[in-house]
Amino acid sequence: MISATGIKKQFGELEVLKGVDLNIAQGEVVSIVGPSGAGKTTLLQILGTLDKPNSGSITINNTEIQNLKEKELARFRNENIGFVFQFHQLLPEFNAIENIILPALIAGKNKSKSEIRAKEILSFLKLKDREHHKPAELSGGEKQRVAIARALINDPVVVFADEPTGSLDSKNQEELHKLFFSLRDEFKQTFVIVTHDLHLAHLSDREIRMKDGIVM
Ligand code: ATP
Repeated sequence: MISATGIKKQFGELEVLKGVDLNIAQGEVVSIVGPSGAGKTTLLQILGTLDKPNSGSITINNTEIQNLKEKELARFRNENIGFVFQFHQLLPEFNAIENIILPALIAGKNKSKSEIRAKEILSFLKLKDREHHKPAELSGGEKQRVAIARALINDPVVVFADEPTGSLDSKNQEELHKLFFSLRDEFKQTFVIVTHDLHLAHLSDREIRMKDGIVM
């Protein structure tokens, strides 16, 4: 489902990725682990099409990313990829439903249909009674679950998550661990997660270990 070959990335003189090859199957929950500075976030950004490698190729869902023009890439990203970050990055002036449907509206989808879908996802995430709450009225764990709902609104083939449990206490971390696997079981969702959360990494189907810009 995701295939990357020979991914190299430099920032100035600094060679951050030195030729990364990997394959990830649909429905896999994969954790990318390794020491600080290993290049994990850089790799995630490149796999998620938010940044470009200096060389190498990436195929997601049978589409060769490097062949897409800017506009096609933005459309491909919006339709196929969801993102979850360490800090939820919800818009404070919008309530949960409004935050969740934003990527659907950007993709030109119908608002009322998107709201119905958002409510289904919120219900699955046990947040049905929070749909009209703004981020400031939600707990840390709830905010992160709303961010996950937003990542899922366009039914992406893969969700990339960068330290999704990094700002949560251990109870909320555990809830999120369970959630990733129940989403995978329910929606056949693929998750690629950069994490220092060793418990999450151990629960994953597979750990990809990185050090000094290479996969070990
Ligand atoms: P951490 O676990 O601390 O988040 P990481 O493994 O995710 O680390 P990256 O964030 O990918 O590591 O960073 C790898 C290296 O690339 C670091 O030395 C970082 O300073 C450098 N780097 C990352 N992004 C940029 C950038 N935009 N410009 C210059 N250097 C960068």
